[in-house]
Amino acid sequence: MRVLVTGGSGFIGSHTVVSLLEAGHDPVVVDNLSNASRSVLTRIGEIAGRQPEFHEADIRDRDTMGSIAASGFDACIHFAALKAVAESVEEPMLYYDNNVGGTIALLEVLVASDITTFVFSSSATVYGDPNKLPVTEDMPTGVATNPYGWTKIMMEQILRDVQGANPDWSVSLLRYFNPVGAHPSGLIGEEPRGTPNNLMPYVAKVAAGELARLSVFGGDYPTSDGTGVRDYIHVVDLAEGHVAALNTHVGDAGVHTYNLGTGKGSSVLEVLHSYENACGKSIPYEVVERRAGDVAANWADVTRAESVLGWKTTRDLADMCADSWRWQQRTR
Ligand code: NAD
Ligand code: UDP
Repeated sequence: MRVLVTGGSGFIGSHTVVSLLEAGHDPVVVDNLSNASRSVLTRIGEIAGRQPEFHEADIRDRDTMGSIAASGFDACIHFAALKAVAESVEEPMLYYDNNVGGTIALLEVLVASDITTFVFSSSATVYGDPNKLPVTEDMPTGVATNPYGWTKIMMEQILRDVQGANPDWSVSLLRYFNPVGAHPSGLIGEEPRGTPNNLMPYVAKVAAGELARLSVFGGDYPTSDGTGVRDYIHVVDLAEGHVAALNTHVGDAGVHTYNLGTGKGSSVLEVLHSYENACGKSIPYEVVERRAGDVAANWADVTRAESVLGWKTTRDLADMCADSWRWQQRTR
């Protein structure tokens, strides 16, 4: 399949492009490089043996996107978005314009070009504070605590409505839990700008000696050790989930919603200790106040993805930490 991949130079996009190439598909990457570097394409080529076609373009640029789309595609996987929660609170219009406005511009181009299979990067954040665990896809979407989260809830709704108006469309909403790790080659991974906000990239920088200690946000949650619990998923497993969704649902009219996680929760301290094993050092930390907007625990029911997509994760927390540490050492 020839697949238009927006945001294909980013963290999850680059791993998915590798998986698409390895599965024999033909991904074409569009990225404005606002949060990625051009050299990612060369490194993808080193891993997969061939480089994808690349266009430096913004998804909001309808003319350029229209001429790229005119070359013909079987499907679009849409990763391009801004994703920094704190920045979204400070710059809400930027986030609504780039993420929601960008998605609408892209959808207009796809409708005009008759590209009818669409795979969307959604997030477990759409569940808000879940009232039961594990989270299933039929639970109602919740209330976001920041503009970034609202963009995901809004974009899901826009996609359901666009599919309703274009009943031949196949829309897959993939709700990622907590993607971490890196490609085992050490050639591609996450490249956060400035001080990381997310747990594993932060732990990686403490392990590397670039940050002094981890602040553990809350030690009094109703969890096994009092720290927050999340469903961490290896980015290569997540990438393979996109290929499975695409293979299953290309041309399959309807809206298809999946949780992509491992189905298992890990606490902040479990992640920290697993990382200590991976890097062979002890990682300093202190328990501080809870972070505003955080939920105590969140993990996925992955029954639907396993049974319908025939996909399940194969990499555990130890693999996630080992691959993150290999990438961290390479980027120092
Ligand atoms: P990323 O920042 O590494 O990748 C996003 C890519 O999109 C970047 O390469 C960026 O340059 C590009 N981009 C942004 N705006 C663009 C625009 N207007 N036009 C063209 N390109 C643009 O982020 P990621 O972690 O790979 O996330 C990919 C997708 O997955 C995003 O939609 C994100 O919201 C979603 N997601 C991520 C996580 C996570 O924890 N990383 C969790 C849930 C959902
Ligand atoms: N966390 C932490 N210290 C940090 C960053 C995160 O204790 O410096 C905790 C956070 O409170 C949550 C978990 O680690 O319980 C995962 O946080 P992350 O920001 O990676 O993901 P999200 O909160 O979006 O699920």
